[in-house]
Amino acid sequence: MDLENKMKKITLGHEQGAGAPCLKCKEKCEGFELHFWRKICRNCKCGQEEHDVQSSTEDDKKVGKLFEDTKYTSLIAKLKTDGVPVYKRNVVTLTNPVAAKKDVSFKTVTYEWAPPVQSQAVAMRYMELLPKEKQPVAGSEGAQYRKKQLAKQLPAHDQDPSKCHELSPHEVKQMEQFVKKYKNEALGVGDVKLPDELKEQVKETSKSPGGEKGTAAAVGSMAAQTGQQGEKYACFRCKLNMKEGDPAVYAERAGYDKLWHPSCFICCVCSELLVDMIYFWKKGKLYCGRHYCDSEKPRCAGCDELIFSNEYTQAENQNWHLKHFCCFECDCVLAGEIYVMVNEKPVCKPCYVKLHAAVCQGCHNTIDPEAQRVSYGTYNWHASSECFLCSCCSKCLVGQKFMPVEGMVFCSVDCKKKLTS
Ligand SMILES: [Zn+2]
Ligand SMILES: [Zn+2]
Ligand SMILES: [Zn+2]
Ligand SMILES: [Zn+2]
Ligand SMILES: [Zn+2]
Ligand SMILES: [Zn+2]
Ligand SMILES: [Zn+2]
Ligand SMILES: [Zn+2]
Repeated sequence: MDLENKMKKITLGHEQGAGAPCLKCKEKCEGFELHFWRKICRNCKCGQEEHDVQSSTEDDKKVGKLFEDTKYTSLIAKLKTDGVPVYKRNVVTLTNPVAAKKDVSFKTVTYEWAPPVQSQAVAMRYMELLPKEKQPVAGSEGAQYRKKQLAKQLPAHDQDPSKCHELSPHEVKQMEQFVKKYKNEALGVGDVKLPDELKEQVKETSKSPGGEKGTAAAVGSMAAQTGQQGEKYACFRCKLNMKEGDPAVYAERAGYDKLWHPSCFICCVCSELLVDMIYFWKKGKLYCGRHYCDSEKPRCAGCDELIFSNEYTQAENQNWHLKHFCCFECDCVLAGEIYVMVNEKPVCKPCYVKLHAAVCQGCHNTIDPEAQRVSYGTYNWHASSECFLCSCCSKCLVGQKFMPVEGMVFCSVDCKKKLTS
């Protein structure tokens, strides 16, 4: 490997999260080790998001970079040391006295993220309105869910060319333009408000000259639609009314005439809760970062990066950089080679035979992926008169009716009876 490539490898962040245990594979994975161009673990082949990578600092830098040069700069701070933008995540710790018999102990709950609103009561009500397993309470399943969604919904390699593998100067330029465009046109952060309060605010500002006319007009039209008496606020997604006194999520890009239940503020493709309410708005729909980008650009099924080059290939209903249509096991290039799809991943023939090939119940040899075979449940046979035959009388069963009993097959009730009773 030449020096230039070595340099690039380092910037891909291979040291990040190294050795972290896989939450899915447990002890079967020796610890996270980033593949040299796929965004997966070399040991267990799961994504980094499945591993217990501790660093929230890296996540905060990623989100900080996302908000750089946007109208949401109030959500970021610049690191004194190197000027790197960092997300000012709203972490909230609550302390509740718990009286157990005579002793009073204190129970503290930390939310790794909470909506940045003035009233803590509103923030907590927002949390209660989320499913329990998705509330980002530190050390809980919900915090893990948030972290995983942060990795899934906002891949660093969708916004930062330096996190991509060997981009040409032209591709870097294309990517920078793309990122700039989505920051200007689609990216936003949800706004938690009480619908009644918002209406009051609007009345105030519309009375005073020079108020926020845009918002006033939008909410004005909402009031007209819903009728003045017994104001009802319907969620844009589920169409059900908001419960009185409950906070709703608003999205500036969508207009303040629309609102969502906190649990309805989800991506229209993956239906996951938009992590930290970071959304992308396009043609009347909410997307997470990943699925917004997918709606604009092809994504390589090999390296998970967006494709900015005109040259790419389509195979198995997926897009691939030419150099990334490779065997999932050994990384050999598959263009023009025979491959087999295993769990939606292409595998070269030698790896398939070695690792995945079905074993014939008749001769106990592996079955070549191109060979004719008979499958029943998890059992397989060569479709030949030597292998697929009655376990009792050895009559060839290829093209015939047969009766399976676990790994055996029979030509008739009589033969079955002779061997199984
Ligand atoms: Zn794993
Ligand atoms: Zn792993
Ligand atoms: Zn709803
Ligand atoms: Zn999504
Ligand atoms: Zn690729
Ligand atoms: Zn292979
Ligand atoms: Zn066989
Ligand atoms: Zn028979």
